[in-house]
Amino acid sequence: MEPLPLSRGSYEGTYKLIGGQVSLDFVNTISWPGTVKEHDWLTPIGNFLVWALHAGVIDKPQFDDLQAYPNDKFQGEMKQILEIRATLAHVLRPFASGKDPSPGAVHHFNELVHKASFSRYIHPSTLKWSWADPGTIINIASPIIWNAALVVTEIDRARVNSCPGCQWIFHDTSRNRRRRWCDMEDCGSRDKALRYYHRKKS
Ligand SMILES: [Zn+2]
Repeated sequence: MEPLPLSRGSYEGTYKLIGGQVSLDFVNTISWPGTVKEHDWLTPIGNFLVWALHAGVIDKPQFDDLQAYPNDKFQGEMKQILEIRATLAHVLRPFASGKDPSPGAVHHFNELVHKASFSRYIHPSTLKWSWADPGTIINIASPIIWNAALVVTEIDRARVNSCPGCQWIFHDTSRNRRRRWCDMEDCGSRDKALRYYHRKKS
């Protein structure tokens, strides 16, 4: 799987869309959460638009329009985007680890779902659920929040897991439900190499 072309400064890791659901990929914009290797991919803030484009949340014309977004407004709305990500993480990370999210986290989550629903409408010609053109940075979050709601309400919980290496979370769509790693090329191969090393030592 190809890494996304995000700015990473001096960080040596890469970011890949391995979640299988856009809300899981959004939570995964923090690599190695809670460890010394933790890295926030939404810094610099321009990464958010690149991420949203590649994750399919916005299309290229919307991406191009948002390039002209005033920087001070972008900075302000990014603070809210990071808060939204934190709320989704407080729900989705426990969910992926077989634990219950706290009632407070679910309460915040419900507030987000309620607000996101205002951007949803039935398209007059296709009669399909559609999302209003975001127009602002904060509105990009609406379909991500909605997807998080679908993940917790409609996906078999046993199929939402977290990588035992890096803690990234993903939807396991494999037939035999055997997916263990974020990506076989990353944590999967690290684990294989480690087991090989230990076998040789003993
Ligand atoms: Zn991993």
